[in-house]
Amino acid sequence: MTWYDYIVVGAGSAGCVLAARLSEDPRVNVALIEAGGPDTAREIHVPAAYGRLVQSSYDWNLWSEPEPGLAGRRLPLTRGLVLGGCSSQNGMIYIRGNRQDYDGYAADGAEGWSYDDVLPYFRRSEDNERGKDAYHGTGGPLSVSDGRSRHPLADAFLDACAQAGHRANPDFNGACQDGTGRYQLTQRDGRRCSSAVGFLRPALARPNLSVLTEALVLHIVVQRGRATGVRIKRGGQEFTVAAAQEVIVCAGTYNSPHLLLLSGIGPAADLARLDIETHQDLPVGRGLQDHLAVPLVWRTREQTLHSQSTPHAMATAWSEGRGPMTSNGSESGGFFRSAAEQPAPDLQLYLSHSMFHEDGLGDVHTDAYTVLTSSISPVSRGRVTLRSAAPDHKPRIHTNFLASEGEMKTAVDGIRLALGIARRPALLARGGRPHLAPESDADGDVEEFVRRTGCSTYHPTSTCAIGSVVDAQLRVLGVEGLRVADASVLPSVPRGNTNAAAIMIAEKAADLIRGHGLPPVSSAADAMPLSGRPQKAGKAGGKNTALARRRLMDLAESHARAEPEELDELWEELECVRPEQILGTWRGSPLNTGHSAERRLRALRWYGKTFNSPDDVQPLICRDEHGRLYSETDASGGGGRLQMLPFRNDVTTALVYDAKPVIDYFKKADHDTLMGLMTGGNEPSDNGRNFYFVLQRPC
Ligand SMILES: Cc1cc2nc3c(=O)[nH]c(=O)nc-3n(C[C@H](O)[C@H](O)[C@H](O)COP(=O)(O)OP(=O)(O)OC[C@H]3O[C@@H](n4cnc5c(N)ncnc54)[C@H](O)[C@@H]3O)c2cc1C
Repeated sequence: MTWYDYIVVGAGSAGCVLAARLSEDPRVNVALIEAGGPDTAREIHVPAAYGRLVQSSYDWNLWSEPEPGLAGRRLPLTRGLVLGGCSSQNGMIYIRGNRQDYDGYAADGAEGWSYDDVLPYFRRSEDNERGKDAYHGTGGPLSVSDGRSRHPLADAFLDACAQAGHRANPDFNGACQDGTGRYQLTQRDGRRCSSAVGFLRPALARPNLSVLTEALVLHIVVQRGRATGVRIKRGGQEFTVAAAQEVIVCAGTYNSPHLLLLSGIGPAADLARLDIETHQDLPVGRGLQDHLAVPLVWRTREQTLHSQSTPHAMATAWSEGRGPMTSNGSESGGFFRSAAEQPAPDLQLYLSHSMFHEDGLGDVHTDAYTVLTSSISPVSRGRVTLRSAAPDHKPRIHTNFLASEGEMKTAVDGIRLALGIARRPALLARGGRPHLAPESDADGDVEEFVRRTGCSTYHPTSTCAIGSVVDAQLRVLGVEGLRVADASVLPSVPRGNTNAAAIMIAEKAADLIRGHGLPPVSSAADAMPLSGRPQKAGKAGGKNTALARRRLMDLAESHARAEPEELDELWEELECVRPEQILGTWRGSPLNTGHSAERRLRALRWYGKTFNSPDDVQPLICRDEHGRLYSETDASGGGGRLQMLPFRNDVTTALVYDAKPVIDYFKKADHDTLMGLMTGGNEPSDNGRNFYFVLQRPC
């Protein structure tokens, strides 16, 4: 039987991240099993074409059961069936949710999931073209950009918001979520940056990563309380692959609970009814939440995606990454509170320059725009249950939208908010006849409209929630060797789109599995105001690492005198590193600033540093009089430890000396070159200035 250390089920937003991160360690082998096929279709990568993937062979084509709160209608519940999962099919809007969501999870017992705990993982995944700051990262695998299309209706919507008195917010993922603005997108060079593109592709060449597509996992093999592998169906054949360490289920909010239930992990009574042996009695599938969306549509004289989606525009977007089809279709929007006493936004709006009707499945037959209102702080819980014990039968899904008191009022408030914006001159000037709107503003008509047109925003979560199905380490309660790591583990749906959250969950899961993690951010760094964000020179306001590296090497090789201010600037330009990236022996060279440490190191015939592991460090490797290397312990006070620590605007690897009040911080110029910065250990003549040095891997 084939075996792997880790089997990751589902190559979606989370699964691609997890498989890529786990396979960074060449000592483990990882299998990523995906029911869908490769992500080769152009419609996946050309942003404005994603609507064509709905109800296609790239869609699981799931439907809800008749929904009592929505006039008994059944809702399409689109899910990506392809490498990248929903990240290959979604609207690319980059939103993380609200600080209060994560702090709420932690307050309810999800230890390690507060906003300060998860922010380092959002930042680690990110390569934000605006540059990095206390909230955003650069150099990560996920490209986040401002989008290349600037549709005039997106701007008209923002003007109308301003006319209605709503304030602008340039960064919904920064200090404050409230306000209106353009969405940042998971796009790179005008094309979609799915998890498959950003995380998986760069890892595909690794010999320790196997990706199996068109392979449906039928159930998890559980023996004596331990997950030992998975049963797979591929090309008409069934077979089992074994997991030496863990099975991690990343099959998404509908399919992860479906798979657990098929494997005998779920409510015992439900399983017994279908003659499935219960391995663990857990409320799997019970906590489902989603955002209800209600569309308002107007015809317009402007060109919209209806008339812009030409074969030529498609070809231009595909080959050159520009033109109207680089749009995600919903370029602007905002976050609002239905009442001032709401603790955080409970409504999100999207302006889409397209016609969205009949649950997103209606024919787009004319130029039109949609203001979509979404209730982002629901209370109701739905459920995912088994239709039968056959793995290829789709699960039963009850979204239970509007089941709780007060939810209809929020939806009605959302419609009124949207109408209040749409009736401002900036949008009125662009609009024509309403195509889809309530009969009148009367409560009864608006409520009827919500029941008739409400649908899913495709943000389902919480069916395998932390606290009820998995613990805070994402381990399935009562089953060894089994975790869930995708949007289903969120205790409740966050206030906003859920792709970034799924990616963050997988980033964190990788560290939980590997047994080390990023430290939480300090509140001080986190509280940095928006206006205080440093803007960097170089590519689109981002880093200019190549230039900084060249200058650094010049200074190290020439021993030319350097000004500490210049070195401070070079430091800012470099990327953070993690302890496992810098293991090994390094040759060191002081940078010449006249710091007292240069003299001390010269006297010791300093060679460099050795990091055998994060806990086994030799801070000072020197040469004896015969030129032989040895670990100098008198001057260094012994050893030290590597750990991630916040420093200035970053969180990067630091060497904390065991017996001296000294910390060295490191950043990466390239794979073989680090810049080091020592704090502490100064003499009065140093005037509080830091000692800078360069570390290089010996040839
Ligand atoms: C149309 C649409 C638009 C959206 N727009 C946005 C947006 O603009 N911004 C945003 O942030 N979020 C958006 N979302 C939501 C977001 O994309 C999802 O929340 C996120 O992708 C979920 O990630 P996941 O890893 O939990 O699941 P998925 O990405 O769904 O991954 C699950 C993977 O598991 C595979 N799988 C399932 N069962 C099995 C099995 N038995 N065997 C093998 N493989 C299996 C699936 O094929 C899939 O690849 C949108 C979603 C949709 C559908």
